[in-house]
Amino acid sequence: MRDSRYKRGGGLKKFIWLSLLPIVILVIAYLVYKVFLVPEPTIIGLDEFKHLPIDKTITIEGKNIHSIEITIHQDGTARTILKDVPDYNEKRYTLNIKPKELQLRDGQARVIVRARSSIFKGIEHEIDAIIDTIPPDIQVISASYQVYQGGAGFAILRARDADAVFIRIEDERFRASQAPGQQEDRLLGGKQSRTYLAFFPVPLDTKEDSIIYAVAQDKAGNRDIKSLPTRLRKKVYRATTIEITDDFIKRVVFPLLNNTVTDPVKAFKTVNEEWRRKDIKRLRDISRDSNPEMLWKGRFLQLRNSKVMATYGDRRTYYYKGEEISESVHLGYDLASVSNALVEAANTGIVKYAGELGIYGNTIIIDHGMGLMSLYGHLSEIMVREGEAVKKGAVIGRTGSTGFAGGDHLHFGILIHGYEVSPIYWWDEHWIKVNISDKMEDYLARTEG
Ligand SMILES: [Zn+2]
Repeated sequence: MRDSRYKRGGGLKKFIWLSLLPIVILVIAYLVYKVFLVPEPTIIGLDEFKHLPIDKTITIEGKNIHSIEITIHQDGTARTILKDVPDYNEKRYTLNIKPKELQLRDGQARVIVRARSSIFKGIEHEIDAIIDTIPPDIQVISASYQVYQGGAGFAILRARDADAVFIRIEDERFRASQAPGQQEDRLLGGKQSRTYLAFFPVPLDTKEDSIIYAVAQDKAGNRDIKSLPTRLRKKVYRATTIEITDDFIKRVVFPLLNNTVTDPVKAFKTVNEEWRRKDIKRLRDISRDSNPEMLWKGRFLQLRNSKVMATYGDRRTYYYKGEEISESVHLGYDLASVSNALVEAANTGIVKYAGELGIYGNTIIIDHGMGLMSLYGHLSEIMVREGEAVKKGAVIGRTGSTGFAGGDHLHFGILIHGYEVSPIYWWDEHWIKVNISDKMEDYLARTEG
């Protein structure tokens, strides 16, 4: 009896042990994992500590975090800005850092981030930070009195302690360039003060009551913003309708697509919509870098003995066999002369682009500096090379009908920071004098005096 009971008791113990074994193994495995195998902590977002302005919100995300501590060190003193042992080992922290409240002075500091995923595993990051609580300052010296939708403007700005100066219209930014002939270290209140010149487009679809801002920004992200006195005015552009013929589809559209599309409407829409969108993007890319100097002078030249076939801003609706199939907005002037007429550089500059460019066909783009460029499309011949300096009036090519063109003409465009604006102002001596030359002369007279 005793024996059998003992045996039964032993069986029970064994049974309990056996059923507990997997749990014990799991617990041990878990502990081994937690202590020895858990990966190192990873933290993303630490680069945000590099520049600390007057007030900065930094979001970091940690993985495999058992504990974390962040301190800022300056002049031998450490300030703790985060200390945590999170419940979950993945956590996102949002830190609002105000250097003045932490009694940090402007200049260098060091941020040290320590995190552990277990008692044996930890990481330490050291980040060199620049504390800059002095915001830049921007003043508008002079600016265009008024600009039209699809037009352009000019402003002279003075900024102190700025790493970037730009004009902001709605969500777009157009960078300003440093004015020429400035002494290298003109100090004002211990910080550099410089004059900037800004050419800016007013994109066609800008709302008419939009305010144009001048912005100065430093590396830490501090900003000063002033509004320009410039009034943005509404401009009504022409609405035109164009009947697309089978002849145009066969002669122009199908060959552009290497005859790979056989449906006339689909082919037309591909070129008119897809190609146009791509070209707009390409123009922005090509125009990203511009010469820092103002290379041009006086009015821009218009194609000799030419007739205006289409104007800037024309809203075109296309019909095919009586049905509306597509739309576009024409962003330059179409000028027609005799076939293969000589094309001259509208002003002095450097050839930025010479080659095929989508709907524009064989195209030349001349950089006149500070973001201002001129474009010559549909050419039958290109006589210049990229990088070549050209003088106003120099022959650069011949008109033609390459690209998305029905007949021999020149598509002439003015680009500002990659946006096509209306060329009419740039052909107008008076507009250039009032908006640019007089303002430059006033400014130069004042700085010399
Ligand atoms: Zn055109």
